[in-house]
Amino acid sequence: MRKSRLNKVSIPKELAAQILFDSDRTCCVCRVRGRHVQLHHIDEDNSNNDPSNIAVLCFDCHRDTQITGGFDRKLDAHQIVIYRDDWIKRIRNRRVSDHGPEEISPQVKDPLLKLIMSLPDGLLRSYRLAQPKWDTGIPSAMHEGNIDMIWALKHILVDLVAFYPPSHFEGKLPEDYFREKIDSLFDWHSKRFDLEGSGPGTVGGLVIVGGEVISDLEKMVAEMVRSLTSHRDNFNFQAWLSEWKNHSS
Ligand SMILES: [Zn+2]
Repeated sequence: MRKSRLNKVSIPKELAAQILFDSDRTCCVCRVRGRHVQLHHIDEDNSNNDPSNIAVLCFDCHRDTQITGGFDRKLDAHQIVIYRDDWIKRIRNRRVSDHGPEEISPQVKDPLLKLIMSLPDGLLRSYRLAQPKWDTGIPSAMHEGNIDMIWALKHILVDLVAFYPPSHFEGKLPEDYFREKIDSLFDWHSKRFDLEGSGPGTVGGLVIVGGEVISDLEKMVAEMVRSLTSHRDNFNFQAWLSEWKNHSS
């Protein structure tokens, strides 16, 4: 009888969910896992839904709040508040020490994730270093800026290759593989612009081609990161990708 009456308390769903989460769906007094629990209004006013007035209790402990006589001591409001606040604090601390490391430290301890997480910032630094050269508007200086970026991206690619099986890159040394790759990208874009009559024979044309190569290399890094992390559920590729692409700001 009492149970059904108590279950009718109309605590807003979001608030109830938050309180149950904060208490880990566990009675704050006995703290026995797996017991059915209910939300108890500490002042026994079922319309007072202030979070400070609500505690998670199992049915057994709730019964102790209803004691009216005898030698058993009633579980009163003051005790419940102390139990409740202590329990919520313990749950919070345990989440920080348990889940914190689960979510954060693998990215620090795991060399691959550590590298990957550092790439967007590294790219941004390279852009900041190259920017003054591009800002000159002088083709030869702008080309130098491109070369700096390409050099930085090649290093990123070489670093990532360390996490692939050795045979993955046609048995070549990663440095050689990517140097050839970059050369062929320059050739390919030059020919493309040649066909379009944009005049790649000039340094100005070379600057445009270099920009295309940079963009290709950035995509290669993103593809490698995607394939290296595809089996990991502790890595959010889309979030990483938007950071990786966010170097224009
Ligand atoms: Zn209990």
